[in-house]
Amino acid sequence: TPHEFDFDIAVIGSGPGGYECAIRASQLGYKTCIIEKEQTLGGVCLNWGCIPTKSLLKNAEVIHTLKDAEEFGIKLNGFEIDFTKVIRRSRKVATKMAKGVEFLMKKNKIEVKKGYGKLKSAHEIEISYEKDGSSEVVSSQHIILATGTKARSIPSVPVDRERIITSYEAMVLKEKPESLTVIGAGAIGMEFAYFYNAVGTKVTVVELMPQILPNEDEEIATTLAKELKKQGIEILTDAQVQKAEAVENGVKTTVKLKDGSEKELQSDYALVAIGLTGNVENLGLEEVGVETERGFIKVDEFGRTNVEGVYAIGDVAGGILLAHKASVEGINCVEKIAGLSPEPLDPMSIPACTYCQPSVAHLGMTEKQALEKGYEIKVGKFPFMASGKATASGHNEGMVKLIFDKKYGELLGAHIIGYEATEMIAELGMAKKLEATSEWIHKTVHAHPTFSEAVKEAAAAADGEAINI
Ligand code: FAD
Repeated sequence: TPHEFDFDIAVIGSGPGGYECAIRASQLGYKTCIIEKEQTLGGVCLNWGCIPTKSLLKNAEVIHTLKDAEEFGIKLNGFEIDFTKVIRRSRKVATKMAKGVEFLMKKNKIEVKKGYGKLKSAHEIEISYEKDGSSEVVSSQHIILATGTKARSIPSVPVDRERIITSYEAMVLKEKPESLTVIGAGAIGMEFAYFYNAVGTKVTVVELMPQILPNEDEEIATTLAKELKKQGIEILTDAQVQKAEAVENGVKTTVKLKDGSEKELQSDYALVAIGLTGNVENLGLEEVGVETERGFIKVDEFGRTNVEGVYAIGDVAGGILLAHKASVEGINCVEKIAGLSPEPLDPMSIPACTYCQPSVAHLGMTEKQALEKGYEIKVGKFPFMASGKATASGHNEGMVKLIFDKKYGELLGAHIIGYEATEMIAELGMAKKLEATSEWIHKTVHAHPTFSEAVKEAAAAADGEAINI
């Protein structure tokens, strides 16, 4: 039968959710188009999130390595940081990766439309092109919204993008700030705190909750706070920002401390990293009747909205706001449309990482959550202090902490803080997926010497069989 629509699947937004879902749609034989309002593809992740920040964080690591050079028997006559070049490298990396998405779209014969997309009906999108002011309407049997998020702000901390900034501005500052207040100690806040401290900025982090990285296991977060304080970052937890206001050449931030007293922080910039909210405005959602909930589009486990034919995936659909979660949701959504049987995404199987050094990664429940859920648990830990590879590398801070169900040995939660944490978490994701027990993990032969031996030893420790501690 001839197509009654221009496309089988139209995706709005080309981030890791949108572009991967478009590729999967094309693989499954659907005539697919992707609509992106920016001139570059790849979304926040490639252009203003995951990738450029990792470039900046690599710089921070190089700086720390140089500072430790003497320990490795290398004498340096000081070194200088060219901040502009640091930023430029990060932009180059982002551009290169974003261009890769352009190539992938061509390779998969996906039609790219660089314009602003808005639902006109459940099967029509109006696309406006900023370049020449023109617009067109395309029809599609299925429409997948993957428009992502933007930084959340609160009235007492008015973002002006000059002095009170978001991660966007923090990524491309013209010169290195002398001082920075970071409001919010989630992954984004902590990564910038680590980076700016490394380049020589005086950094103060303010967090409302009792710990930094509030989603992490308490013991891991405490370990990170200790390490970052050693590096020179000031951390205020249980601290509430009352207000931040731009003053001449800087920002004044008023903070209420745990004991009720007030503290004033004066800094060149304040970075607001208190969370994100979905890009749901001006998308035609109200007109077409697509339901939203607390700033995100309401969906079922396969991205279906309340309007037939309209789907939402990735950040704009809420839940865990991470790139790999967006990608899996996009692929699942398309496979469901195709009548395949994708497995619904289990939030407990999504790894979450923070890429400062030491880096932090986790999957599944914290110790507290497991106990609150009523599990009887056994916990195994292995400190990198006892790891040969970590010691030889000069990175022996941190630990692996694994939480197992006592009865069946099932892995409930994995928590790593240390140099290679974000790489090491993958094996535990696999273990969880295959429902491996503590014994399976520690009976798996790990190469020596590696950081990942700590995973094996932590699993062994949970069974009282650790060898090297
Ligand atoms: P996005 O990547 O946000 O893409 C949405 C796209 O839709 C954008 O390109 C936007 O321009 C486009 N768009 C929006 N509205 C329209 C419209 N009406 N018409 C056309 N186009 C539209 N996640 C990780 O997993 N690891 C990390 O290390 C990490 N680091 C991060 C660091 C920072 C500073 C930030 C801000 C985020 C980070 N994230 C990280 C989160 C990650 O970037 C997001 O989870 C991910 O980008 C979500 O993908 P998405 O496809 O849902 O949306």
